[in-house]
Amino acid sequence: MAGIEPQSGIMEIALYVGGKSSVDGVSNVIKLSSNENPFGPSQAAQDAVRRSMHEMHRYPSTDHAALRGAIAEVYGLDAARIICGVGSDEVLQFIAQAYAGPGDEVIHTEHGFAMYRILAHAVGATPVEVPERERVVCVDNILAACNERTRIVFIANPNNPTGTMIGMAEIERLAENLPPQAILVLDGAYAEFVEGYDGGARLVAARDNVVMTRTFSKIYGLGGIRVGWGYGPQAIIDVLNRVRQPFNLSNIALTAAEAAVRDTAYVEKCRAENSRLRAWLAEALAEHGVPSDASTANFVLARFGDPDEAAACDTYLQGQGILIRRVTSYKLPAALRITVGDEASCRRVAHCIGLFKAGAR
Ligand SMILES: *Cc1c(COP(=O)(O)O)cnc(C)c1O
Repeated sequence: MAGIEPQSGIMEIALYVGGKSSVDGVSNVIKLSSNENPFGPSQAAQDAVRRSMHEMHRYPSTDHAALRGAIAEVYGLDAARIICGVGSDEVLQFIAQAYAGPGDEVIHTEHGFAMYRILAHAVGATPVEVPERERVVCVDNILAACNERTRIVFIANPNNPTGTMIGMAEIERLAENLPPQAILVLDGAYAEFVEGYDGGARLVAARDNVVMTRTFSKIYGLGGIRVGWGYGPQAIIDVLNRVRQPFNLSNIALTAAEAAVRDTAYVEKCRAENSRLRAWLAEALAEHGVPSDASTANFVLARFGDPDEAAACDTYLQGQGILIRRVTSYKLPAALRITVGDEASCRRVAHCIGLFKAGAR
C-alpha cells in the first residue's frame, strides 16, 4: 500500500447533483426542479411532528413497529416484510451493500435514476447501463445484459426522469427470467401517482427475487424529513435489517410518516390534482411546440429541438424565477424535466415557455 486510498469504486462516483433551489437576485422562485409535492405535507403529519417535539431527548424505536404497522394496514401488506430507511435511497443502499461487491454487476437502464450507479460504485461493483427503447425501459435489453455476475437489476417504475412506465406483465416476465442469483428492485418512488398500481407489491408477495421500494418524499410531501421503505421476501428483509443502523430514523421522522400514511384522503387529493394539472401542462406545452411522453408521475419531460435550445430555455426560465431540471447527466441533453406544481406554477411555466418559443430570450 502506497498510502491512504479509498475502497475501489469510490472515486468513480460522480457526485449526485440535486435540483436547484435558488436563483441569485430572485426572492420568490417557483421550484419545479425536485419533484416535490407543491401542496406540502398533510396537516396531520405537521400536527404529529408538533406533538412529538417534547420527546426529542428519547431515542427512537429501533424496529419501527408503529410505522411498519401503519404502512401494512394502509397498503394491505405484511408488516414483518417491511423495512424503513432514511429515504428510499437508504433502502436501495442496504440492497447494494448486502448483495453486491467487487466483481459483481448491477444493472440500471439508460435513463434510470442516478443513485443506482452511485450505489453500485460505492460497494465496488460494476454498474451496467442497458439501452431503453424511446425512453421506455426494455425488458429484452435487460435480460440480454444479464449474466452470472448480475446481482441486482434496478428499475424505477414509473421512471425518473422520463415519466414512462412498463406494465406488470413485462415486469413479471423480467422477474421470471432473471438469473437465480439476481434481485429485481422495483423503485416505486412515484407509484402513488398511478391510480390502481400497487408498485409491484403483489409480485413481491408471490416471488423470492423481487424487492419494492417506496418513499415519503414525493406524494406525501416529506422529502425534507427523509423516510422511505422497502417490501420484500422475508429472507431478504432479514438480511437488510442486519446492515441497517438501529436508530436510522428519528422520532420526528417516524411520527410524521405514520401520520402521513394514515391520511389517505390527502394522498387521494394530491393524486387527483397531479393528474389534472399534469394533463393540462403537457397539453399547454404541446401547443407551444414542446412535446413530451405521456407521463405517469408528478413531472413532465419536455423535449426541445436540441441541447442548445433546452439550455437556452432553462436560462430563460431561471431569469423568470422558475427552476426546472436539466437532465443532461441522464443522457437527455435536449430535454427539461418540469415538476407538476400547483395551478399557478403550471400556468406560469407554460406561459414562459410559450414566450421563449415565440422568440423571447
Ligand atoms: C425521488 C426518488 C427516490 C426517492 O428518494 P428518497 O431517498 O426516498 O427521498 C427514489 N427513486 C427515484 C427514482 C426518485 O426519483
